[in-house]
Amino acid sequence: MHPISKAIRIHTDRTNEMEHSSPMFLTSSFCFDNSEDMRAAFADETDDNIYSRFSNPTVQEFVDRMVALEGAEAGYATSSGMSAIFASFMALLKKGDHLLSCNAIFGSTHTVITKILPKFGIEYTYVPADKPEEWEKAIQPNTKMFYIETPTNPGLEIVDLEAASNVCKKHNLLLNVDNCFATPVNQRPIDFGADLVVHSATKWIDGQGRVLGGVIVGKKALIHDIYLFCRSTGPALSAFNAWVLSKSLETLDVRMERHGGNALQLAKALEGHPKIKWLKYPFLASHPQHRIALKQMKNGGGIVCFELAGGLQSGKKFLDNLKMLSLTANLGDTKSIASHPASTTHAKLTEQERLAVNITPGLIRISVGLEHVDDIISDIRQALENC
Ligand SMILES: *Cc1c(COP(=O)(O)O)cnc(C)c1O
Repeated sequence: MHPISKAIRIHTDRTNEMEHSSPMFLTSSFCFDNSEDMRAAFADETDDNIYSRFSNPTVQEFVDRMVALEGAEAGYATSSGMSAIFASFMALLKKGDHLLSCNAIFGSTHTVITKILPKFGIEYTYVPADKPEEWEKAIQPNTKMFYIETPTNPGLEIVDLEAASNVCKKHNLLLNVDNCFATPVNQRPIDFGADLVVHSATKWIDGQGRVLGGVIVGKKALIHDIYLFCRSTGPALSAFNAWVLSKSLETLDVRMERHGGNALQLAKALEGHPKIKWLKYPFLASHPQHRIALKQMKNGGGIVCFELAGGLQSGKKFLDNLKMLSLTANLGDTKSIASHPASTTHAKLTEQERLAVNITPGLIRISVGLEHVDDIISDIRQALENC
């Protein structure tokens, strides 16, 4: 069965009511018939559910669907994307290890790598996402993992998954990929050799701006270590959020097709606009890594970004001029969203620090929603007029 069909048909055990949509197991713990069954479950001799911090049938349904979509062996779901990313580091790296990471990564991931991991004696080196020839030079004898995000948030840089996997195989490193922007219906990093894939399920996977969630999928032995870490430290996904996210996966493929279609049309409509210095979309021929995007992605995803010719002040003006698009910190919603990283998410950095991670003063990120594309284009066009 195609992974998309498989994911849709995966279903937790039906109750006696034989419901067609999955039930939700909103319970903290699970009962045993007798002491021997309980002993065996605690001894890991069976995979019976014990307590929802460890496992829960609704959460497992969401995980099983993600595993099917990503072509993975196993997975574990967490309360947010950040707890998934943090668990993937803490479970698999230890004091004295070195993490290689691309520099263009999500802001909070950057904070974890530069401020939190060093407290535990885990070193890091950043390498440029678009220069594979520089990756190998940064590898040290104690390097254990290569962490990448592709496409990157917010700059839409594309990291060559095949090249990353080749470097990791040669030097025996784990390849850990944040696949949040593409989603598994557009890109499957494991097919290119990734060992682990992490997600913020909060974004396109929910796709409707309702709940936080995260998930890690990959090789069985690695996921087992992550499971043991999470089971004790407690970043479990709630059953309610898992139920919402699992249902969302049934429409992920059709949603992403429309998000991608709308985004491509928007990108084409805006490219060359006099108020725009440059525009980036992975499936436009003008994107610097367009060939790599075509190699590893099925469509260009739902994010378009561009640099306003007028810089920082124009960025704020542009947001104020919008009539339909929302100003909010999320992305991957049915409703289109505009953001200006230099005055919001990245405002605490110095201009120099922002430029080092490609956050230019007039950078605008559009999360293209499911409204009619004509309305999205005309709102952005009118907002560009006097900024
Ligand atoms: C939002 C995001 C995260 C963090 O996810 P949360 O669910 O907000 O914790 C990680 N990576 C990327 C690329 C993101 O966009």
